[in-house]
Amino acid sequence: MTRFEATVLGGGVIGLFSAYMLRREGLQVALIAGGEPRRAASWGNAGFVCPGYGSPTAEAESLLQLIRWKLGRESPIKLSTLFLLRESMPGGWLYRFIRRHTTILSHAKELKDMARDSLALFEQVVKEERLDVGYYQRGVMEVFQDKKKLDMELEEARENAKLLGTRIRELSGEECIEEEPLLSRNVRGGILFEEDAWANPAKVVMEMRRIVREKGVAVIEGEAASLEHSNGRVVSAKIGREHVKSENFIVACGAHSPALLASLGIKLPIAAGYGYAIKLAPTNKRIKRPLVLGDYHITATQTEEGNLRSTGFFELAYMDIKPRESRFEYLRRNAAKYIAQFGELEVVEKWYGARPCSPDAIPLVGRLKGFENLYVAAGHCRLGLTLAAATGSVIADLVAGRENRYAELLSPSRLGL
Ligand SMILES: Cc1cc2nc3c(=O)[nH]c(=O)nc-3n(C[C@H](O)[C@H](O)[C@H](O)COP(=O)(O)OP(=O)(O)OC[C@H]3O[C@@H](n4cnc5c(N)ncnc54)[C@H](O)[C@@H]3O)c2cc1C
Repeated sequence: MTRFEATVLGGGVIGLFSAYMLRREGLQVALIAGGEPRRAASWGNAGFVCPGYGSPTAEAESLLQLIRWKLGRESPIKLSTLFLLRESMPGGWLYRFIRRHTTILSHAKELKDMARDSLALFEQVVKEERLDVGYYQRGVMEVFQDKKKLDMELEEARENAKLLGTRIRELSGEECIEEEPLLSRNVRGGILFEEDAWANPAKVVMEMRRIVREKGVAVIEGEAASLEHSNGRVVSAKIGREHVKSENFIVACGAHSPALLASLGIKLPIAAGYGYAIKLAPTNKRIKRPLVLGDYHITATQTEEGNLRSTGFFELAYMDIKPRESRFEYLRRNAAKYIAQFGELEVVEKWYGARPCSPDAIPLVGRLKGFENLYVAAGHCRLGLTLAAATGSVIADLVAGRENRYAELLSPSRLGL
């Protein structure tokens, strides 16, 4: 059997962009693509490629808030009691998160730069490879019905604009409705994050799968059961009866990465932050751009075919939870308060998936201690699609032995790995 120069494990956006960038280097690359593509977080996310909205500082604050919000019945952020009890112990995910949450604030500018570079690279790949992913860049508009919440968000957005150079436009209620006539007259105002773009997430997965195959990446369907090692090197990935041999291994299995790395005795501190999505029957009533329905921290987007979608929730738990019907209802009920069609059209798809969350909200990308040819690319939490293209570049540079501007920021060594 072929011995590859690099084998990427994981068929989500992070694995796909890593395989793509490695192949662009001219390497012989294999991609062990995992299970059903629909189950990946990359499939059903909101599709924002967003250096503006969901900025690093907002990320830090929302993660902090989750502890306060645990008990709130209408809160979009949930935390299972078992997770809270176990992971608050020394060495646990929440324990690390509480001690390290300030890291993200001190690295906000670097992460912001990475998100901007990643958007530019993503756009370049979409154009060069003619990816049919519905890509456009018209900003993300966050709207509010509650004036107090709007004012709080405005204050934070202004602060980010000053500190991080985020390009924002403040909008009155009338201006929001002028921009998006489908919006309810109860909208009191909003913020347009002008830099942000959108792509259909499921199409990104399918198109990147197509393109890596066309470029000559060997795509192997299925999940690796374990990684096998000898003398400080990983030698193969076991999948079914086969052993895929390679010079380098890149683990990009999203929230499943800890399970695979456990086969090498590595404890990767990545938790699953579950999110939910609904998709409605198509309509010819259109929104122009992706929306954040700020009072409820949920999104409203629309596919090129006219299907409205809403995503939301952040439910920290162990893997393999059962989705709750009430979460889907929450999305529909609250999205309908802004766009009436959410209450009228049939729900044709319900989806849930796990964001891979590192305890300091910075992705873990780099070589892992103890194995000279083993890399991880996981933990992108809410920003996986946004940071995917730049992550692929970091991996390609590291495997080639080149420097990369973001390598230190993302290095797993900061967590002793
Ligand atoms: C509701 C929701 C909305 C979101 N919205 C946005 C957004 O608007 N913008 C944004 O940037 N991010 C968003 N995110 C986050 C984003 O979806 C994730 O950060 C990103 O998809 C993570 O990509 P990944 O490739 O690391 O993991 P995944 O997409 O989960 O992919 C992991 C892959 O690994 C495979 N795998 C698992 N085990 C194995 C194994 N043993 N061997 C081989 N393969 C394996 C799986 O089958 C899968 O293909 C959102 C997430 C959610 C849930």
